[in-house]
Amino acid sequence: MTDSDSGISRGGEPSPELCDLCGAVISARSLRYAFVPDSSAVYWHDPKMDGRRMVMSCSAEHLEQLVAEYQRRPFVEAELWAGKMARAMFWHSGEVSEDELFAEAGLSREQVEQAVTWHNLEVERRQQLRRGDDPAGDQ
Ligand SMILES: [Zn+2]
Repeated sequence: MTDSDSGISRGGEPSPELCDLCGAVISARSLRYAFVPDSSAVYWHDPKMDGRRMVMSCSAEHLEQLVAEYQRRPFVEAELWAGKMARAMFWHSGEVSEDELFAEAGLSREQVEQAVTWHNLEVERRQQLRRGDDPAGDQ
């Protein structure tokens, strides 16, 4: 046991890892993790990881449920491309030519067009949600 260490602040204490399923604090001994496909995952400093997310859990059972949850989720390529575009624009402070954007994001013109369409539909969908519109609701 190292309880005597627990109250010591070294400045910038690491926050405890929480289970992505139940939110419980994960002890080092029970930590389980896996990489799952996720089209919303884009990394500022590690583009090779784009499209994958690391999930952490408190137990093997919860990890299994998390992995199953992500496998049921649709992987939307246009969402991933939109994230890559946003990152490229951020790197260039929003001032980027089309050619730079294609090169930086590693996308074709067609992919950029699909990403923009996805982004616009997503903005519209979020605005509808904020206004309380429910397209599937009773009329
Ligand atoms: Zn858990």
